[in-house]
Parts: sequence; structure tokens; C-alpha cells
Amino acid sequence: MMEQQHTTVTLEETAFQELAARHAGALLRPGDAGYEEARAVYNGMINKHPALIVRGKDVADVIAAVNFAREHELTLAIRGGGHNGPGLGTCDDGLVIDLTEMKGIRVDPVARTVRVEGGCTWGEVDHATHPFGLATPSGFISTTGVGGLTLGGGIGYLSRTLGLTIDNLLGVDMVLADGSFVIASAEEHADLFWAVRGGGGNFGVVTSFLFQLHPISTVYGGPMLWPIEQAADVLKFWRGFIMQAPEEINGWFAFITVPPAPPFPEQFHLQKMCAIVWCYSGSLEQANAMFQPIREAVPPAVDFAGPIPWPVLQSLFDALYPKGLQWYWKTDFFNDLSDKAIGLHLKYGAHLPTMHSTMHIYPINGAVHRPGTSDTAFSFRDANFAEVIVAVDPDPANNERMIEWARDYWMALHPYSAGGGYVNMMMDEGTDTVQAAYRDNYAKLAQIKATYDPGNLFHVNQNIKPGK
Ligand SMILES: Cc1cc2nc3c(=O)[nH]c(=O)nc-3n(C[C@H](O)[C@H](O)[C@H](O)COP(=O)(O)OP(=O)(O)OC[C@H]3O[C@@H](n4cnc5c(N)ncnc54)[C@H](O)[C@@H]3O)c2cc1C
Repeated sequence: MMEQQHTTVTLEETAFQELAARHAGALLRPGDAGYEEARAVYNGMINKHPALIVRGKDVADVIAAVNFAREHELTLAIRGGGHNGPGLGTCDDGLVIDLTEMKGIRVDPVARTVRVEGGCTWGEVDHATHPFGLATPSGFISTTGVGGLTLGGGIGYLSRTLGLTIDNLLGVDMVLADGSFVIASAEEHADLFWAVRGGGGNFGVVTSFLFQLHPISTVYGGPMLWPIEQAADVLKFWRGFIMQAPEEINGWFAFITVPPAPPFPEQFHLQKMCAIVWCYSGSLEQANAMFQPIREAVPPAVDFAGPIPWPVLQSLFDALYPKGLQWYWKTDFFNDLSDKAIGLHLKYGAHLPTMHSTMHIYPINGAVHRPGTSDTAFSFRDANFAEVIVAVDPDPANNERMIEWARDYWMALHPYSAGGGYVNMMMDEGTDTVQAAYRDNYAKLAQIKATYDPGNLFHVNQNIKPGK
């Protein structure tokens, strides 16, 4: 990370010592060994200098840190996996509660549930549940944090089949702004449980999550690739197919630049192509028959789809997107993909500005539509597609160019959108964008925020302002 001039705020020594005496986990201040590494988040564009990073080991540590931040009027950020695009897991000059040492995971194979502490990544959850032949819906990359992904909704390989991650959330343990501890579920603090299913980190620190597990072990999936010239045919086929496909099939569309490495055939290295990344979680015996019409409709140039253990599919792209790359993205939900919108996708998708840049469209029909638009804080249950335009590169010198591409692409498609985007895939874009993401649910979220965090202690997030 580039070091730049930064005037760090110094905490009063006696106050710091008081916290240290009550805290089991490490406390890191600027200059301490490990501070530089600890302040770095996934997005290399983010370069923040917290006054104090608190590595909580348990709920008691989190309570102490929340009380400390409130009493000393410090900006407070909560860090789960640190993957947030705009870096909302950290802050300048304030206190970061870093949950990355809270890694406890307990599988109950009989009840088919898993209790996951707030600092886990999805790869760690998959590691723990896979030996039982069980999994819960998450995302598409295993290094992402359970915390942020879940609290924003959670769109992934199993969305059409089993719903969003929040649709499989049974309850949370939380530390609130006043330092109190609560359990929120359908039975207890139901208003809070409604709010954390999509409302992000606005309501408190989730110290652990309880998820429903499902018998998911080896699925049939992986990418199929086509030449960019066939993108219109592929998109039109996929649009029709995915709207009526059995819920066990998930496949998201992407524009990509083929990485210059195995297992991609050499003749395609660095070529711009389009792809669909599949995940079929129905019977493996029926998988080939299920995929035959797909393979016949527009025969792929490269076909990696086949039986694959769930954790392998989940981590397929981890190596391509390591921590520290420059990262900027924009998002919108769509009810449909009109021919006009497809034309615009072809225009911008064919000009990915860097090798890592990409555009994905995730299907969110099927099981995602089962809850209504106001049943959880996540509002866009009636949309069919989530678009994310992703500008990524190792070199900051390319930032201006790739950000311009992402913005232009998004602006061109936005008029065809459902009017709002996914909170987990936006930058720090202000209140209007947050309101658009929640639509009619925003007013209720603001009310619940006023009940549980009237002083907006938890504001380093896609912020919901406390209602009057
Ligand atoms: C490479 C990559 C792949 C991704 N893939 C997907 C995907 O497939 N599907 C998807 O839905 N999203 C995906 N995302 C988006 C992801 O959901 C968001 O970036 C999310 O914010 C990351 O959560 P985190 O815990 O890793 O991040 P952090 O930066 O640690 O936290 C993000 C936000 O959540 C809050 N937060 C985190 N944990 C807690 C907690 N325990 N209690 C209270 N607040 C908390 C933080 O305060 C912050 O506001 C991806 C992101 C990246 C970078």
C-alpha cells in the first residue's frame, strides 16, 4: 500500500489503558507492529488510518469497544471480511472493531444449522460444513466476509434455488449502540431481525450468525465461454432460459478477458469473451440432460461445466482477484433485459478497460422472489437481474480510465433499470442511492434505526439515518 502523509489522531493514554485492561484481543495503534497490515482492506484504493484497531476475541471485547467508541465520541467502523468496495469496514482517525479473530463455527448436522462468528469468510464456512455434505447460500468468491455479505442480502450461486443468504438466516447475536447484547430472530426483536436482513451494519455489531444448511455437496457447474461476437446470441438465449429454468439451475452472465494462464486454452488468452458461470444443484444423474439444450442453443467455445465440489466452485475465482487490487463498481437491479439494453451491454462489454474488469448479471428470480418486497429490508424481490459493472486493476495509474468506463456503462444502462442497486455492490454514493436501494422499506429502516441507534453510532456503512 502506498504510504501518504497522514496526521494521526492520538488517543488519550489513560483512556486507552482502561480499554486495554478490559480487552482480551490485540489493540493496534499507528506505529505498532502489525498496524500497517491490519489497516489494509481488500480494495487497494482504500488507504485509511484508524486511530485504533481493536481485534475483538469475543462478545465481551466487542461490548467494551462499542462502549469505548461511544463514550469517547470516536468514529466507529466494523470490519468483517474487509471486502467492502468503498472500504466501509474501516475509517480515518476513529476506532475499527476488527472481527477477523472471531472465527468460531459450529455445525449442527442434525438440525442442519451452522453458527458462524462475525469474523469468518465464506471459505471458512464452506470448509466447516462441506464434510457434512451441507452448505448455505453465499456468494461467488470464498474470501468475502460473512458479515457484510449477509447483512446486505447475499446474492450467489444458490440464489434461484434457496434464496438470498438472508433467506437462510435464522438469527443473529448482536451488540447494540448502547453496549447491550441482544438476540434477534423471528421470535425475539423481530423488528431488528427484519432490519438486519438487508439493512447492512446500521443496527449494531453482529457477533454471530445462525444459518440454515442444505444438502449441497458436489454440484454441476463452472464456466462456459463464447467469443465476444456471439454475446448477443448468448445474452438473448440466457435471458429467456433463466426466466423459466428449474430453480436448481443458476447461471450468471459475464463479459471477461480470458486470463493468460491454465486452464484456459492458449488461443483464447487475453481475448475478450462472454461467459455464463453455472451451478446446478439438482440430481447429478440428470445434469447432462439438463445442460444439453444449453450446449445446443449456442455451442460454447470453452466448456468447463461438470461435477464440482461446492467449495471448489465457490473459490474458483479467488486467485484471480487477490486482496490489494484497485476496485470500483456500480450496480443496478433490472426487471428485464430488453433488446435495447442488450445492445448497450455489447457496446460497453466489448471494451473492458483492463484484464480484471468485468460485468456480471446475476439472476435473482426463482426462490429470491418467494418473500415479498417488504418481508425483509432487502427490497428488490420483484427484480429479475442484478447487474454489477466492475472496474479492477493492480495499477492505480489505470483508475481514472477504468472508473470512467464503469460510470459511462452504468449511466447508459441505468434508464432501463428498476431504479436502484444492491447495497453490497455500490461505492459510497450518498443518501439518495441508499434510499433508492431500499425503496419503500427505507422509512421503516429509519424508524428501527431510531429505536436501536438513535445517535447513528454505526454510520460507517450504506447509512440509514435515524428517523424522527
Ligand atoms: C471479490 C468480491 C466478491 C464479492 N462477491 C459477492 C457475491 O458473490 N455476492 C454478494 O452478495 N456480494 C459480493 N460481494 C460484495 C460483498 O457482499 C460486500 O463487499 C460486503 O460488504 C463485504 O462484506 P465484508 O464483511 O467482507 O466487508 P467489510 O468491509 O468488513 O464490511 C462491509 C460492511 O458490513 C459491515 N459489517 C461487516 N461485518 C459486520 C458485522 N459482523 N456486524 C455489523 N456490521 C458488519 C461493515 O461495517 C461494513 O459497513 C463481493 C465483494 C468482493 C470484493
